[in-house]
Amino acid sequence: MSDKIIAKTDLRQWLASLVAGNDVIAPLGREGGPAQWKAIDGNQEIDLGAGQMVMAAKEYLLPVHDVLWRYETKKGEEKLEQPELPDRPTVMVGLRLCDARAISVLDSVYMDGRFRDPYYATRREKLALVATVCDDPRWSCFCTSVGDLDEWAKGVDVLLTDLGDNVYAAPVTEKGKQLVQGSFFKDPTEDQTKKKAEAWEKLKAMPKKPFAGKNITENVSWDAAIWDDMAKRCLGCGACSYQCPSCSCFDIQDITTGSLVERYRCRDTCQFTDFTLMGAGHNPRPEKKMRTRQRVMHKFKYQMEQFNIIGCTGCGRCIESCPVNIDMRDVLTALVEQAD
Ligand code: SF4
Ligand code: SF4
Repeated sequence: MSDKIIAKTDLRQWLASLVAGNDVIAPLGREGGPAQWKAIDGNQEIDLGAGQMVMAAKEYLLPVHDVLWRYETKKGEEKLEQPELPDRPTVMVGLRLCDARAISVLDSVYMDGRFRDPYYATRREKLALVATVCDDPRWSCFCTSVGDLDEWAKGVDVLLTDLGDNVYAAPVTEKGKQLVQGSFFKDPTEDQTKKKAEAWEKLKAMPKKPFAGKNITENVSWDAAIWDDMAKRCLGCGACSYQCPSCSCFDIQDITTGSLVERYRCRDTCQFTDFTLMGAGHNPRPEKKMRTRQRVMHKFKYQMEQFNIIGCTGCGRCIESCPVNIDMRDVLTALVEQAD
């Protein structure tokens, strides 16, 4: 694929050209708060340097409130309708590599070949990912300790690297090659290609945690002492999985307002007591210890066994959102130390 360079002053022009044939979603800054994922019309200044977003890129694929259907009776007439799903291609610009990897995790759950969730898959099949190489990882990030970034980079369509006044655009797929088109793109100089490679190596050299390189799947033990410690502290609030880019569980609810019934799905979490509560009253995970263990074992063992992919990308959101400072890095360190 032929790599290109675009001046930052031309970025808006590029995005406007993308908007002509695609829906485009990008980080938009806002006063008094963090940047948010928004559909853009090509006239806005997008915040490519927004870094990791509070809400992960899965927000587009698995909206917090996703209407499945609506049924309404009005003046004796019945109407059943399904929401419109995108029929135009969509380009998501500016997501971090960890969030792109999380989409690979979600793909394995929602469209693994045996099952195809039509709501997720329709959005995903039309989606192109234009990711950005992190130049300023957050204090809570540990991507390089749980994954191989060279491998993760194969899951995006275009990889952007910020070079100051310019952005280096490397198409990864054919779809990505089609996106990196226009007279504002130039061939990179040798110096620019070298700087891009240096930025990539710098990211990969991020300090590793004690569990890096260990086979975490084999070290996650059902009887580990860490589960008791986690259970004593955990409040069961679910913030960790609500913000997790790769958590995939949902609940289905109906809202009834007079003549209208709306069925929607929303995020759910294994950290809630009633997550596994069955209709007859039995709950296979009644204790908090069982639920805290489930979150970690699912990500590092069950998803590996089922889909051959680790269900955590080291984005650090669960660490930053936990009100009692439960830190996934400490949990993984304890697990590998216990196993040694
Ligand atoms: S478990 Fe935590 S660190 Fe891992 S992907 Fe989810 S939020 Fe990020
Ligand atoms: S955010 Fe912390 S306290 Fe809340 S459920 Fe997750 S681990 Fe427990």
